[in-house]
Amino acid sequence: MRQILIGGAWPYANGSLHIGHIAGLLPGDVLARYHRAIGDKVYFVSGSDCHGTPIAIRAKQENKTPQEVSDFYHREFAECFERLGFSYDAYIKTSANEHKDFVKDFHRKLYESPFVYEKEVPQAYCESCKTFLADRFVLGKCPKCGSDTRGDQCDSCGAVLEPETLIEPKCAVCGKIIGFKKSTHLYIAISKLQSELEALVESHSEWRKNAIAFTKRYINEGLRDRALTRDLEWGISVPKEGYENKTIYIWAENVLGYLSASRGAVGENANAFSKLWGEDAKHYYVHGKDNIPFHTIILPALLLGNGEAWHLPDQIVSSEYLTLEGRKISTSQNYAIWVKDLLDNYEADSIRYFFIANGPEKKDAINEIFDFIRNANKFFDTEQPWTTRNTNKNACDNTLYQCVQIIANLAVLLSPFLPFSSEKVLKWLNLSNQWKKQHVESGSLLPEVEILFHRIDKKVIEAETEKLKAIL
Ligand SMILES: [Zn+2]
Ligand SMILES: [Zn+2]
Repeated sequence: MRQILIGGAWPYANGSLHIGHIAGLLPGDVLARYHRAIGDKVYFVSGSDCHGTPIAIRAKQENKTPQEVSDFYHREFAECFERLGFSYDAYIKTSANEHKDFVKDFHRKLYESPFVYEKEVPQAYCESCKTFLADRFVLGKCPKCGSDTRGDQCDSCGAVLEPETLIEPKCAVCGKIIGFKKSTHLYIAISKLQSELEALVESHSEWRKNAIAFTKRYINEGLRDRALTRDLEWGISVPKEGYENKTIYIWAENVLGYLSASRGAVGENANAFSKLWGEDAKHYYVHGKDNIPFHTIILPALLLGNGEAWHLPDQIVSSEYLTLEGRKISTSQNYAIWVKDLLDNYEADSIRYFFIANGPEKKDAINEIFDFIRNANKFFDTEQPWTTRNTNKNACDNTLYQCVQIIANLAVLLSPFLPFSSEKVLKWLNLSNQWKKQHVESGSLLPEVEILFHRIDKKVIEAETEKLKAIL
């Protein structure tokens, strides 16, 4: 039996899910359901990304603990995914002990490798907030072009910056002028892994085009070593002496969630875990395009650095950005459609169909099926069983028999895309969703059936469009 890992990206737990998240993640559920139907052993895993500065800052502002803030959104995410029919085998959170323990073991081994070294660096520190600041929480003027900029990158001239080079550096939280303190951190020498990472992208022409293009660009620009640790209280403690007041940088632990979540999903069987992360498995990573470098550079660098011959990514399913009425979604401007609002007003399968059929990448696997459905409808209309019922009983029986066989097989074909409606139809016809030709015996009786999809009134669509316009 083939072992399949499908890793869905980890939404950051400091705000509600919007439709951009779902558009990027839904292909993962379709893949998981398809592989299960054809008989593969599937582990579809993901979770909520709970650590890092933005959650710590939000908690401070709301007078809550970071745990409270992230738990709140974690519960909301889990509920939305369940209502949308996401068939995760494990959906965990990075603040869970199973994840933290796994990450610490993984890092302990990583630190022994020749790819990890210590370095003393200046760190932005705000006296008034009594905290070290991540690069993008430093604001000031760009040393290259003079525009207002964040500490990591200047959006005006595109320069990659070090926060200590900014003119008049300020704290993004309180607005006061900040200072810099020396601090020692662990670094991973991603630059030393350049040839392995290059070989990985070169040997995977099946990755989405955007994933190949982005990854090659990063490599060509020269890979930079990255800090594995940071001065922040909220996070996973560093399993090394002398690092007691530091935590593991969020990017160096959240991607390891694919390992910790699948470790939990296989249960007590350590052998099954090795098999899932061994040579013969197949691994898919499903996410929006802004997550590409984390899955094609960072995760492989950590896996290679750890040295346990972990399976590297096979397929990168990275979606383009979803737009709303031609504009990019912006959560800071509240220009978004929230998943929980959609679920309160529409059926889950209607929402799924919309994203699969209208997503940034049109899915040919579903358009062909719907061409076939249109032909089947034509057949039904042409044969007019409601007329032949009185004039030619044999012809009527034959038409209905053919249509029922078509519906039975469509229900199986569509089950990865529209699981709720497919399940209803298969139940009415007394069939399973096994990936094989379906046959309904003539003379079978139907139980009471219901309408599968309700037509959405034009007025509802107009009202939704008005709501969006009102935000602009
Ligand atoms: Zn600039
Ligand atoms: Zn401050």
